[in-house]
Amino acid sequence: LLTTSIDSAATRAREYATTFIDTSAALGRRLEGQVAVITGAASGIGEATARSFIAHGARVIIADLQDEAGTKLAKDLGPNAHFVHCDVSKEEDVSESVGLAVSVYGQLDIMYNNAGILMPKSMGTDTGISDLNLADMHDMFRINVYGVALGIKHAARVMKPQRRGCIICTASITSILSSLASHYYTVSKHAVVGLTRSSASELSEYGIRVNCISPTIVMTPFLRIMLSNPHLNKKLGEWRTSEAGCNLSQTFLSPDEVAKAALFLASDGNYISGHNLVIDGSRSVTGSPKLFPLETDDS
Ligand code: NAD
Repeated sequence: LLTTSIDSAATRAREYATTFIDTSAALGRRLEGQVAVITGAASGIGEATARSFIAHGARVIIADLQDEAGTKLAKDLGPNAHFVHCDVSKEEDVSESVGLAVSVYGQLDIMYNNAGILMPKSMGTDTGISDLNLADMHDMFRINVYGVALGIKHAARVMKPQRRGCIICTASITSILSSLASHYYTVSKHAVVGLTRSSASELSEYGIRVNCISPTIVMTPFLRIMLSNPHLNKKLGEWRTSEAGCNLSQTFLSPDEVAKAALFLASDGNYISGHNLVIDGSRSVTGSPKLFPLETDDS
């Protein structure tokens, strides 16, 4: 029995090596022939990911609320990009976006549930737990949580019969750290991790992988709402200064770096599912202020 296992392991290793060499040869175009739907793709992280996926040979449905920006981006990206108006809080929109991938391109390989908001328009700056307003919380959940749930639901509908597929969701550093955003946002991103884990376990038997990505602060239009509030703007400035001392490269995270993580999960992460991929250059594992090491290179 043991010999058989060793033999079959060796066979698998040879097969893996062959695949690896093939994959390496094709590294220039890691998503050749694949079809992706990306929500919230008219701007920021979604836009960077759409650009990257297309450069790697994918065909992409840009699903977003912003008609003008989305249409312009699709035109800029060429014939492999297609814009569709989609409000992720509306089930019919999400269902139609997924349906479009199938009707235009005949398949769906990657669903990236990326759309999200930092705070609903109605929400004031009093965001403490004593100011909890269920209507605001519900408005946020409709997009950040139910929108992701609908994306997973409709992607699974198409991917299950295919018996393969990759679903990615954008969570946030706030899925593991508190006090960086309102309670509503923090809780909504914890829920994205919950949805990821829960659906990954159900869908694994169909060969469908579900993962989420948790970036630290990225300078995208998403933060405008914070920058426009003098108090929040000041706090963000302080946080950025502390962030610079605690992360890998002493620079700030760009949407392109998040897109690289999405590309990795979509193209190479064949055994990765139910994972929350934190992208913060070690920020979340670094105590602040740092007490150790006691001696530094410049001491
Ligand atoms: P962004 O504002 O640049 O892009 C978000 C996109 O989502 C926009 O194009 C917007 O039109 C779209 N959108 C908003 N509501 C929508 C809806 N109901 N239906 C469809 N599309 C909708 O912001 P971003 O920074 O690229 O944010 C993308 C994701 O990253 C969000 O889920 C956000 O929570 C998450 N995130 C952002 C940061 C950050 O610091 N920027 C950090 C961690 C996580």
